[in-house]
Amino acid sequence: MTFRVTNIIAVVALVLLILANVFVHAPWWGYVLLVLGYTGTVFWGCATISSDFFLPIVCSANTNEQVVTLTFDDGPHPIHTTRILDVLKSYEVRATFFCIGKNIKGKDAIISRMKEEGHIIANHSYSHDFWFDMFNSTKMLGDMRHTDREVLRITGSIPKFFRPPYGVTNPNVRRAISAGGYIPVGWSIRSMDTVAKDKGKLMAKVMGNIKNGDIILLHDSMEITADILPELIDEIGKKGFRIIPLSKMINVKPYV
Ligand SMILES: [Zn+2]
Repeated sequence: MTFRVTNIIAVVALVLLILANVFVHAPWWGYVLLVLGYTGTVFWGCATISSDFFLPIVCSANTNEQVVTLTFDDGPHPIHTTRILDVLKSYEVRATFFCIGKNIKGKDAIISRMKEEGHIIANHSYSHDFWFDMFNSTKMLGDMRHTDREVLRITGSIPKFFRPPYGVTNPNVRRAISAGGYIPVGWSIRSMDTVAKDKGKLMAKVMGNIKNGDIILLHDSMEITADILPELIDEIGKKGFRIIPLSKMINVKPYV
């Protein structure tokens, strides 16, 4: 289901309802059902990043190889990101960091280190504003470009991967991504580490249905994520999976 198909179905249904009312007395709740069905479908499309409702988003890789990739959102964080980088270095694992532009201030060294150690720096907006999805597409793109400039200033590279704040998409997000030439990236495993209290449950949440080509969503803003990372990498390895960089898994260059 896509936004376009939903709109076509809604218009056809509305016309049929009106016609039905002209010729016979159709019940009034037909209109109520139509409005509820339409808004429900659009809401689902906005909130479900893997729905491809407004635009196609990379949420996993189609591969026969036993590989997965790690992605970290919402950093850089002065303590947790550094701990995570230490763990990744000791395991020789390369990951992708979807950084919030405003969090980069004063943490240039962390961004430089990510690049030097072979991680991918990606764009997760500058403001991560709660109302980001309400911005018009020009304001959104301006916000996204702000992060690009910060990353360019430190690393000399412009990110190509973009993950929308909160994973919410809508027609304006689609326009901004398209105008900016970004590759939109979602996830296939949402760890829910931002609300996790129990390390065992968090591990189970990630490992429960792990499969080839999974993009795992974690947050380097969270202490619990830094805590479980060594065990998580061990468990992924024990299940026979290799952790490879996102760019390699989906065969797309990470920078402009
Ligand atoms: Zn985020």
